[in-house]
Amino acid sequence: MRNPHAGVPFDTSDEAIAEALVDVSIPTLMLSLVHMSGDPSLIRGPLRPAGLFLNEVQGYMSEEDKDEVRSIAVRVIREYRDRGCPEPAPVSAELLHEMMEWLVCEEVPAEYVPMLMEEMELDGTDARRTGVHSDPAARAAFPVVVIGCGQSGLLAGIRLKEAGIPFTIIEKNAGVGGTWWENTYPGARVDVGNHFYCYSFEPTDTWTEYFARQPELQAYFESVMHKYAIEPHVRWSTEVLGAAWDDRTGTWTVRTRAGDGTESTLEARAVISAVGQLNRPHIPDIPGRDTWAGPSFHSARWDHSVDLSGQRVAMIGAGASGFQIAPAIADGVESLTVFQRTAQWMFPNPNYHETVGPGVRWALRHLPFYGRWYRFLILWPGCDKGLEAARVDPNYPDQQRAVSEMNELTRQMFTEWITGQVDDDPDLVAKVVPDYPATGKRTLQDNGSWLRTLTRDNVDLVRTGIDHIEADAVVTVDGRRYPADILVYATGFTATEVLSPMEISGRGGVDLRTLWGERPAAYLGITVPGFPNLFCLYGPGTNLAHGGSLIFHAECQTRYVMGCIAALLAGDHAAIECRQDVHDGYNDRLQAELDTMVWSHPSIRHSWYRNDEGRIYILSPWRLVDYWSWTREPDLGEFVLTDR
Ligand code: NAP
Repeated sequence: MRNPHAGVPFDTSDEAIAEALVDVSIPTLMLSLVHMSGDPSLIRGPLRPAGLFLNEVQGYMSEEDKDEVRSIAVRVIREYRDRGCPEPAPVSAELLHEMMEWLVCEEVPAEYVPMLMEEMELDGTDARRTGVHSDPAARAAFPVVVIGCGQSGLLAGIRLKEAGIPFTIIEKNAGVGGTWWENTYPGARVDVGNHFYCYSFEPTDTWTEYFARQPELQAYFESVMHKYAIEPHVRWSTEVLGAAWDDRTGTWTVRTRAGDGTESTLEARAVISAVGQLNRPHIPDIPGRDTWAGPSFHSARWDHSVDLSGQRVAMIGAGASGFQIAPAIADGVESLTVFQRTAQWMFPNPNYHETVGPGVRWALRHLPFYGRWYRFLILWPGCDKGLEAARVDPNYPDQQRAVSEMNELTRQMFTEWITGQVDDDPDLVAKVVPDYPATGKRTLQDNGSWLRTLTRDNVDLVRTGIDHIEADAVVTVDGRRYPADILVYATGFTATEVLSPMEISGRGGVDLRTLWGERPAAYLGITVPGFPNLFCLYGPGTNLAHGGSLIFHAECQTRYVMGCIAALLAGDHAAIECRQDVHDGYNDRLQAELDTMVWSHPSIRHSWYRNDEGRIYILSPWRLVDYWSWTREPDLGEFVLTDR
């Protein structure tokens, strides 16, 4: 069978090939040419990228050099086409490593290469697929319940199905996608490049934008669900109320409530929670909130029946969601007042709203491994580099401004990006340049649309604190009244209440929420002592603030969970449970590491990363490469396996 990433054979005309190459990533194209021709000398000459920056996919090559590559490419692609587009011969490991370093203009340390090879699947092998026990009767007697059908729950379903294990996915919404089902607010789009923000085992030639909007993302998960025939396993509009472990039978009893209110139970040998962290809206308890008379709703519960046109809209909160909403609605409303408590750092990204042109889509579909190398090109600069910019150097002098020299450089770059847009408006500059170190909160992707919106005549950015809400106005602490017709809460989620509001009762009836309180913790973010055969995807300590993608993380976690299930089946065990000392040691290390990061720094006054005590339990401080290697397979010595 042809390698699924080797490109679909084509008979495109010479003219159409030349046309397609106009807007492709030229460095990525050059690596595809190496595959097509088998000639590495193509990348050993002077034509090469000059530098690396996230989402700068042309490697700063000059127009002349790019044109020269295009003319070479037309010849190589034509010859390849005329040979019938054969599957390219495999490239040696040494050459692949050389190609990686060539593309990103820097050393790619050897420890990263296996992870990257797996992520890119250049050999056409989905290495994250796990083989499990081959006895069909044993598998049939091992039903699994997955909670949630967002990107990680769907992935769990795909892996369980591949392994031949019966499963049911319980999803509270009426459709697939999780956050991409719920967040239909105007302007909602992903801020990790889509050619990386998608499953590693799915080709990526269909995205119409580099950072797709919500409907396209939801449709992607829908199409993957159908391709892998997962839907028959899903119960839609059904909420999991809780789950209780029975030590005697080695099963979980999962309580559910369907949309019509009917409650029922399911028995499962294992439960995989894939509920996400960002789906329970947080609406702050601002005095007078209940006196508001007009329409009001949270960003993740957008009320599309409310017509905003010609209305005065007040939006409380402007983090990642509000930052996307304001530019999307400002044009159609009479006025928009944005109440922002903390200014946000933004990362310059000119591609943020760009469409993927037909030439690029042709290349992604037909040119061998073009899509794979493109994936690597946007993955690598957002991989572990951000971690260093976020690490606190305790000896750095001005800690309120920056936490290290590298963090200061990041601050300067971000500040120039902001002031370069609104330098002629000192009042606005004072409001929009953050007063805390860069990357201390979630950094937003920006193409200029946010500040352009704030300079509109009908938009007002208010940085003064809110005192209270009245029937038709928001009033700030300086006594100023801001009348409005519609109130939007873009105020985030109760992210620190992991797995809430489900009641999970483990060994001896211990309640997980009570056990965790404000300090949720799990070994690798996946397993908790006292809760056998319960696995979390996107659990405590796994949210990514420095780079990567939650889909990458979900693939790591799902493989690990499947490894645990495989161990249960292989040994005919009743239960697998993480050792307490392993769990505690891991979380002590995690907390110590988080203490060294800017997200924990006292200069950050408000952050959804923090619990009520001001501490962080939901973020990962780990390099992706470490987390990947720790989750490749469970070390059974770290678990207690109980016999039936
Ligand atoms: P958020 O980043 O937590 O922003 C919430 C906003 O509400 C902030 O401006 C916050 O101010 C404000 N706020 C909260 N409580 C307040 C109070 N009591 N008084 C005044 N203001 C208050 O929430 P979000 O924008 O929904 O984003 C949450 C996360 O979802 C993001 O960080 C990201 O991980 C994800 N997300 C991703 C995308 C994307 O991929 N493009 C889009 C949306 C969301 P402070 O900053 O002062 O706390």
